[in-house]
Amino acid sequence: MYCYNQATSMDHVIPFARGGADDLSNLVPICGRCNRLKGDRTPVEWATRVFMNDRWSGDGTVQGGGRPGGLSLRELHTKAHEEGLEVLDAVEKVLTEIANVERWRWFLWSTSINYPGTVGIEFYRSFMQDRIKVAEAAGWPEVRPAHYRT
Ligand SMILES: [Zn+2]
Repeated sequence: MYCYNQATSMDHVIPFARGGADDLSNLVPICGRCNRLKGDRTPVEWATRVFMNDRWSGDGTVQGGGRPGGLSLRELHTKAHEEGLEVLDAVEKVLTEIANVERWRWFLWSTSINYPGTVGIEFYRSFMQDRIKVAEAAGWPEVRPAHYRT
């Protein structure tokens, strides 16, 4: 859920090694690449690292900063903070979806797969966005809408 790649495993949002729960209250789908890169970081630590690495050259200069009209370190920090909050919003939205029994049932019904599983919610967010919108507007109906009959 941290990117648009298909999820292949589940991520402990707060790393298990750092006290995160080992149940659905702390698990979201994640792709292999994000899983390796996130490691034992919290979402905020990870987002901050990605954001700063994108803008920190390693030689003491900051892309977009350090020159007239560029970003100050404080502004960089503020932007990284905002990015971290966006990641947290996304994580909490997915956790809410997972905890939503109606939605969970809808996914089970519409996919005939177990969720969470190797093909997670991100697959449907990427490829079934229209179906999700229709189903959400209809209150996650158990009866298949006529226009989806095949
Ligand atoms: Zn990813």
